[in-house]
Amino acid sequence: AVPLVVAINTSTAAQNGMLIRDRIAMEEARNLDIVMFDKTGTLTKGEQGVVSVEIAGDWDERRVFEVASGVEGDSEHMIARAIRTAAEERGVSRTSVSDFENLRGRGVKATVDGSTVHLGGPNLIQTLGIERSADVAVFADEAGANAQSVVYLVRGESEIVAAFALADVIRDESRRAIDALHEMGIEVAMLTGDSEDVARAVADELGIDQYFAEVLPEEKDTKVAQLQSEGKRVAMVGDGVNDAPALTRADVGIAIGSGTDVAIESGDIILVDNNPLDVVRLVRLSKASYRKMQ
Ligand code: ADP
Ligand code: MG
Repeated sequence: AVPLVVAINTSTAAQNGMLIRDRIAMEEARNLDIVMFDKTGTLTKGEQGVVSVEIAGDWDERRVFEVASGVEGDSEHMIARAIRTAAEERGVSRTSVSDFENLRGRGVKATVDGSTVHLGGPNLIQTLGIERSADVAVFADEAGANAQSVVYLVRGESEIVAAFALADVIRDESRRAIDALHEMGIEVAMLTGDSEDVARAVADELGIDQYFAEVLPEEKDTKVAQLQSEGKRVAMVGDGVNDAPALTRADVGIAIGSGTDVAIESGDIILVDNNPLDVVRLVRLSKASYRKMQ
């Protein structure tokens, strides 16, 4: 039988917008040293929009959007949606592509008119070993300073033909959640596949103690392990497929309810209302409930 305290606890949790899949994790939540948040879709709304475009090759803006929206055609990523929307807004239709490939945590790739086109962020540029032109680097630096993410359209393996700056919105509740965690003596960290300067801007804005940027999907859980090896009890909060191993690795894995199925299946606790403040409620509820049990 379920102990009475835990039964009460679980229904209280449900009233507080959280679903508990693992009761041991719920109990662990009162002992946390650090909470690590994924950036995109967790601290931010993940509703990105294209705010500016830098043309860097001989394709005009129309061609750039035809190709970019074509290459993103089969991707469910928030950035892909933003690029397709921007193309539609410009009245541009997608070019047809073949051999679509999802380069997880980096971007996408497809064949257009017989040649390869890549579209992706800083991790892609690094993987391909591309040196950006001065103009593109300035564009990216300015965007980054404004916490805008940049993705690059690459013709072949090395020619950047355009760069897009995308703006996302920080959730109102993120700041309050981080302040409240600090008041409880809990550190806050952030993890993202996005660039160093975007990560820094968001971390500064929110008062985050420590961040990891340009992290590849296969490295996310090792960042959680790194914190654990420092003797810390870690909660991970995430929404994406890429966050799943980190959610599993963490002492308390917290999935955002609107996140991907894989993230939800990997979480110990699900935040039904997608509200970072519910992480604070979770810690409070854990402290209150398990104190009673002792
Ligand atoms: P995050 O860690 O920011 O939640 P991901 O791990 O999904 O996001 O992606 C990491 C980075 O890879 C993104 O910030 C972006 O630069 C790039 N990327 C991923 N998917 C795409 C895509 N479909 N189109 C363009 N860029 C992408
Ligand atoms: Mg995410």
